[in-house]
Amino acid sequence: MSEQRHVTVQGVRLRFAAAHMATLGDELEPLHGHNYIVSARVEGDLTDDSWVIDFSALKRYMREACEELDHHFLLQAKSPQLESKLIEGSWLIRFQDREYRFPQQDVVALPIENSTAELLAEWIARQAIERLREGGHANIRRLAVDVEEMPGQTSGYATDL
Ligand SMILES: [Zn+2]
Repeated sequence: MSEQRHVTVQGVRLRFAAAHMATLGDELEPLHGHNYIVSARVEGDLTDDSWVIDFSALKRYMREACEELDHHFLLQAKSPQLESKLIEGSWLIRFQDREYRFPQQDVVALPIENSTAELLAEWIARQAIERLREGGHANIRRLAVDVEEMPGQTSGYATDL
């Protein structure tokens, strides 16, 4: 018999507001934003004192990742279609005949190929995994992160640890 416990967190501070332009085929979306809502689920064994994880610790890990993205332009720095360069304190982003310039402090350059909710969920999960490792949560076996882009549209990423 295989048993696994899990803990789920969501909350008013597990959200971020951000701008982005995703590519779809050979199109680039117009610049726009979302109020993203994040939730996470961890699965694992019980600790000696019968926790999977302290809710507040998991919320803090997730919140820290959300705060890095909040009120920024989310740049898919590994996009094969966007040309992005950091020049003298500005990100210069080119797509076909369109050119954008953003102050560096307004941009989070993410090592992802596209700024879809799927890849944002994966990036957030990787941040949380780092914090789970640093926090010594060796009993955690799996993490799943959901990112809701707008009501009724949620993407997720899950991985074994
Ligand atoms: Zn969007």
